[in-house]
Amino acid sequence: MYKHVGTKLKAFAEIWCVLGVLGSIAAGALLYLVKKPPMALQYCIAIAVGGIIVSILSSWGIYALGDIHAKLERLEDKLIPKPNYMSYLETNQPLRGQCEICGKTTDLINAKIVDNLGTRYRKVCRECFAANGCEEK
Ligand SMILES: [Zn+2]
Repeated sequence: MYKHVGTKLKAFAEIWCVLGVLGSIAAGALLYLVKKPPMALQYCIAIAVGGIIVSILSSWGIYALGDIHAKLERLEDKLIPKPNYMSYLETNQPLRGQCEICGKTTDLINAKIVDNLGTRYRKVCRECFAANGCEEK
């Protein structure tokens, strides 16, 4: 619902402007043509013109806000390097794949294995992690 809200805000600003302009013209016309007794013509024109100006000016503010958000989103897309972003996502999600010791496909743990062969880093399943006395990396 709030994803890419800048683009939505820009569309809303355009709708807001069109409805505001039409509404102002309608209000001015109705006050003069339908109301009994009719309001003075200069007031009706002032209401219509004033409403149009307020609608256009306020739509600029809404549009500008949406435009800033949309451009900021594009900039953020360019500035945050994709590989870093992907590894950020990976470290915050459970690692899944094939255990590098038993080959079972399951949730994996980044393990540090220290034994008489030296220090190795492997992605292992929970059982192999426990069985080999691994440390979490
Ligand atoms: Zn395993």
